[in-house]
Amino acid sequence: MTLFWPDPAALEADLLTLAALESPSGDAAAIGQVMAVLEGWARELGGETQTLSGGTRRFAFGVDGQASPLLILAHADTVWPQGTLAQMPLRKDAERLYGPGVYDMKAGLVGGFHALRALGGEWPAGGVVLLVTPDEEVGSPSSRGHIEAEAHAARAALVPEPPVGEGSAEHAHALKTGRKGVIDAAVTLTGRAAHAGNEPERGSSAVAAAAELIGRIEAVARPELGTTVLVTQIAGGTASNVVPAECRLTLDVRVSQAGEDERVLRELAALTPADSRVQADWHLSVNRPPFPRNAETLALFAQAQAAAQELGFTLTETSVGGGSDGNFTAPLCPTLDGLGAPGDGAHAAHEHIRLDLWTERVALLTALLRRL
Ligand SMILES: [Zn+2]
Repeated sequence: MTLFWPDPAALEADLLTLAALESPSGDAAAIGQVMAVLEGWARELGGETQTLSGGTRRFAFGVDGQASPLLILAHADTVWPQGTLAQMPLRKDAERLYGPGVYDMKAGLVGGFHALRALGGEWPAGGVVLLVTPDEEVGSPSSRGHIEAEAHAARAALVPEPPVGEGSAEHAHALKTGRKGVIDAAVTLTGRAAHAGNEPERGSSAVAAAAELIGRIEAVARPELGTTVLVTQIAGGTASNVVPAECRLTLDVRVSQAGEDERVLRELAALTPADSRVQADWHLSVNRPPFPRNAETLALFAQAQAAAQELGFTLTETSVGGGSDGNFTAPLCPTLDGLGAPGDGAHAAHEHIRLDLWTERVALLTALLRRL
């Protein structure tokens, strides 16, 4: 089979088209403009477009219902508010293209379409579903159900999110075969206010209770299992002469292994301050379940490695702390993540992709679609 290398100028032109359309999560009209460009590209490839509830688009290519399709999962939203381009314009140097949303993940969307185009209408058995969601950056509230339904039906999920950043030695040639799950956690402590000078004994300090509680909260971590629990924000008190009646702690909680999310939820919910006059109200929910590195995903990774070998490079695998929509598909079908453009600076002012390394990634996605 002849190997496909994409045209770098065409990739770049399409990325500039998408990146010029700002698309912050929650701005349905702006995201709709990006979706409209994608719909045009899908139409050129003979794809069928469906708009699902919440604004997710489902593009189907050669889906015949005879076999399970492959799923490509991407998002059209970015973390950047409307108007960012004025301060942080698109620009490039010899190797890099900078701008809001280029790395996370408009280059991934462009690469996905170029890989589909390279198939020349010869779709894999069962076809390909490309699902593009509008709310990944805010935890996918409207799209999670659609993602899970497609993952149930799919043979495998390929996620062209950014690979690990340039700070890592592996950035050019690594895929993500595991991601931590994320739990949203905060606790509000309620004590009793009193004059701190005249009658402090009549109060009960929520700030003192919080200080006592922090060590026990962080002890819920199990680093050996990949579970981290950190108190990352604290807010409490109203004035220097008032026994503080309220204090709020916000946590960053991540888990690697299935079952750890339930343990952490249970143990945090049971934590109460030593001062029984202070009440604890926990706010706990699973944002994304862990994306476990399991046998099915490793078999899929082996296919990607073989495809890379044919293209002349060696692929490695990494597990990362950050979650993506791959966390929703991984429990339901084998999933490979990090198939997007190399670069760095997701959600940061130096966000960019590496133009010189991008074509290789698109070639890999194409070769993988042909193999599966
Ligand atoms: Zn992303």
